Amino acid sequence: MKAVFVEQFGGAENLKYAELPTPAPTAGQALVKIAAAGVNYIDIYFRTGLYPATPPVVLGSEGAGTVEAVGADVTNVKPGDRVAYAMSRGSDAEFALVPAWQLVKLPPSVDFNTGAAAMLQGMTAHYLVYSTYPLKAGDSCLIHAAAGGVGLLLIQMAKMLGARVIGTVGNEEKAKLAKDAGADEVIVYTKEDFTVKAKGMHVVYDSVGKSTFMQSLDCLRPRGLMVSYGNASGPVPDFAPLILSQKGSLFLTRPSLAHYAANPEELSWRAGDVLNWIGQGKLKLHIHKVYSLADAAQAHRDLEGRKTSGKLLLVP
Ligand code: NDP
Repeated sequence: MKAVFVEQFGGAENLKYAELPTPAPTAGQALVKIAAAGVNYIDIYFRTGLYPATPPVVLGSEGAGTVEAVGADVTNVKPGDRVAYAMSRGSDAEFALVPAWQLVKLPPSVDFNTGAAAMLQGMTAHYLVYSTYPLKAGDSCLIHAAAGGVGLLLIQMAKMLGARVIGTVGNEEKAKLAKDAGADEVIVYTKEDFTVKAKGMHVVYDSVGKSTFMQSLDCLRPRGLMVSYGNASGPVPDFAPLILSQKGSLFLTRPSLAHYAANPEELSWRAGDVLNWIGQGKLKLHIHKVYSLADAAQAHRDLEGRKTSGKLLLVP
């Protein structure tokens, strides 16, 4: 099968598009024929080696397609089922092995591109607003990279819950997208200091990391929650917990979807909500571009070059 992988960590030029053996499912696994794979920032962390894995590292942590074969003890899916999943690495390929419990059956009305676009960023936005900090009507939140894949979904879910949303974005075009998604206010943080307008927030959802972390703390009300959930600009440097006290007895968490979709019940709650809302038109996906799997390197360059908004997909 064709797959996209790295043997040496580094830039997008290190991505290989070449043949690898098609794997066979063992107990508890399903082999999925990938119809579309979602591109996520986590792919860049695995490519550069920021997140550890043993080479060859096949990229892609999200996909949709058809079950081709199942291993022993798999009862929740069978060959021919249309499925989607997130947080199992290896979707940037024609076939991927996935722990069967992580597969969600796609309703007939949801096509593969939608399924692949919805799962990882949709479930992430879901856990951030329902579980990490359960937003209530009237709460205020600051969302960085608000026109990104997670960002546009986070805005919409925060608004469904009645929160006030301030978003930050890199340029005017992205500002319009964030506004259209429902943000009450949008700050172009490449031009403007976001700490001036974003004050007294209940929660900051910060996926940018290194370049925004310290200033984000200044946007919180006393005892507010700093949710540092990504490293798009680089990992947050070491810092002294005493700072949290000085800035108002703040709380800090560094969550991962893996721990918030940790069992079949939680996974089916989050994925079910996301897919239902998409089906009902309550949640809109913004697909930036569909690339051929062979062009994965270009997708990586566009994503890390801040040229994209919403979702990028790879199609074998
Ligand atoms: P995005 O579509 O949001 O792309 C990243 C965005 O970050 C860019 O478009 C850019 O938006 C912004 N950004 C700011 N500074 C930089 C920089 N120096 N280099 C690159 N980008 C920068 O990606 P995703 O939606 O895939 O992921 C968003 C974040 O969420 C990532 O940090 C990812 O790791 C994290 N994440 C975390 C999860 C978790 O469970 N912890 C799960 C899923 C995602 P702008 O130009 O507007 O600044």
